[in-house]
Amino acid sequence: MALIVKKFGGSSVATTEKILAVAERILNEKKPDDKIVVVVSAMGDSTDNLINLAEGIDREPYKANYLREMDMLLTTGEQVSIALLAMAFKKFGQPAISLTGSMIGMRTNSVHTKGRILGIKPQRVHEELNKGQIVVVAGFQGADKFGDPVTLGRGGSDTSAVALAGALHADECEIFTDVDGVYSADPRIVKNARKMKEITYFEMLEMARLGAGVMQPRSVEMGQYFNIPIHVRSTFTNDTGTIIREDYTVEDKDFEIRGVAHDQKVAKIAVLGVSNTPGIAHTIFSALAKANIDVDMIVQSIRNIDKNITDMVFTIALEDLAEAKKVVDRVAERVNASSVLVEEDVAKVSIVGAGMLGSPGIAARMFGALARADINIDIISTSEISVSCLIKASQLTEAVNSIHDEFFSD
Ligand code: ASP
Ligand code: MG
Repeated sequence: MALIVKKFGGSSVATTEKILAVAERILNEKKPDDKIVVVVSAMGDSTDNLINLAEGIDREPYKANYLREMDMLLTTGEQVSIALLAMAFKKFGQPAISLTGSMIGMRTNSVHTKGRILGIKPQRVHEELNKGQIVVVAGFQGADKFGDPVTLGRGGSDTSAVALAGALHADECEIFTDVDGVYSADPRIVKNARKMKEITYFEMLEMARLGAGVMQPRSVEMGQYFNIPIHVRSTFTNDTGTIIREDYTVEDKDFEIRGVAHDQKVAKIAVLGVSNTPGIAHTIFSALAKANIDVDMIVQSIRNIDKNITDMVFTIALEDLAEAKKVVDRVAERVNASSVLVEEDVAKVSIVGAGMLGSPGIAARMFGALARADINIDIISTSEISVSCLIKASQLTEAVNSIHDEFFSD
């Protein structure tokens, strides 16, 4: 007997035909005494459509004042898909029950639209499994201490699935999606991208954080925390996909970097002409932190030594731009900045790999690949296992290909 958590993303349940196909596939693969929990996202683009609806009320629906209502709205998307999938199982004669985030005891903090899971008490899930039911769970949502719905950030169903797998002590967590695994670069952009058999949590987390869309970063953190192997595989084939786990087991580690990630959903803000004195960075970035805005790359440059004036340049997620601009405009006045510039036409390209630790030539080769493609680098940042460059968004495809060729030419 195995307890398996299977997660199906929005594209896998986009229509009722697809929902029936998902139910059929699960029943075909299920061994008689397997216990199955299925976590699903909202159908197709329905989360985007719900956001569009909210935009009909106010063009900026992510204002602080609306966030609780946004969660009330967005959680309905997953409620539709769980009900339909449970009905599909029943149609095939399989007992099943749908449960929302709050019904599975998924407790979150109260940071609406960007909630974090505090704990899961999945008593109800065990009870229903023990009755022989397949349990169909709404991804992306939990409830806070008031019982109010809270969503976990876009793509949050992955996190729901892995966290639930951890709380249930599941044997495996399978993430079914429209790609058949994790690649060395986005296969839609790089035609000779390689599928990986395995990748470590550490490297996958960095890939995801730097924009590889396959998994929400927090879901990989959850996998690592609970040490649950995550199998990323295709909804449409039976092939093995990529297994994310603590360490490599089978694949020979004959690669210099693990992959090239890119992120187009970034924006750059420059606070120009602030005084080069203690406390300025703190003032700017604590105001952003208070507004729950993550800052990514940061550069402070000395512009004019004589006047002791500096520029503070940083990047944030594009979705936070409107809110961040407001916060920064307010702070800019306080710190006497000469102006605030915003640039949306930027993108970030990164290389990732634990193997680059102690290999000093790797970053230089990445810069060389960009130079050969005549691409200018705006900002560079590094972590222990990655190097990232901010470039013009229009040059992104070329940049990713050129860097991938440098490290993965056969
Ligand atoms: N439906 C949510 C979204 O589109 C959650 C998910 O798909 O994982 O972001
Ligand atoms: Mg979705």
